[in-house]
Parts: sequence; structure tokens; C-alpha cells
Amino acid sequence: MERLMESVKVPCSNAKYGCVEKLTYYQKDEHEKACPNTPCFCPESSCTFAGATDDLLDHFTSGHNWPSTTIKYSRDVKFRLEPGIHFLHTKDRQLFLLNVVLEPVRLAISVLCIQP
Ligand SMILES: [Zn+2]
Ligand SMILES: [Zn+2]
Repeated sequence: MERLMESVKVPCSNAKYGCVEKLTYYQKDEHEKACPNTPCFCPESSCTFAGATDDLLDHFTSGHNWPSTTIKYSRDVKFRLEPGIHFLHTKDRQLFLLNVVLEPVRLAISVLCIQP
């Protein structure tokens, strides 16, 4: 039985998001914790899209027309801020969603880091 369990390979739960790993019962949990294809969910509450970071990036621009800016980590990050959803991504695929709301006397900005 032990032998059998070791030889049975199952696809990663993120196979539908592009993961091609085939894992034994023992490796599966471990892998899924660190799987690079773990989906991210679209932060728009009415939207059910989920996908890998790259797909989500495409989805933001093509599905919602949200402008995006690639940023580098540095002391000052400069980009144009306009009211609405704006989102930032870094080279190492960190996604940040900025929601800029213009209020009568101030500018309200909420920032959300998107991770699997
Ligand atoms: Zn995987
Ligand atoms: Zn969406």
C-alpha cells in the first residue's frame, strides 16, 4: 500500500491555472503551498476571474481597462495619479491595486497588495 501511494501521481490543484506538475500524494501539499501557479483573484467584487499573476495582469488591462504602471522599488515612486483604479506591478510580479478617490477636501487612496 505504501509503495502504491508513492507511485500514484496526481496533478497539482492549480493545473487549470497552468501548473504542469505531477506529484505524489506526499509532495502535493508541500508543492501547493509554494506553487507558482496559485491563482490570484480579481479584487473587483462582482468579477469572478482567477488566474496566475500574469493572467490577472492581462485581465486588469483588457477586462477592466485599469491603467497599470510598472514600478521599481525605490525611495520615491512617481506616476500619474488619477481618480479611479490604478494598478502597479513590479518586475518580480508583485501587484498593488490603488484605488484613488477624489473627495471634496482630500484625496483618498487605498492600496491593496494582491497575492495568491
Ligand atoms: Zn502547482
Ligand atoms: Zn476582474
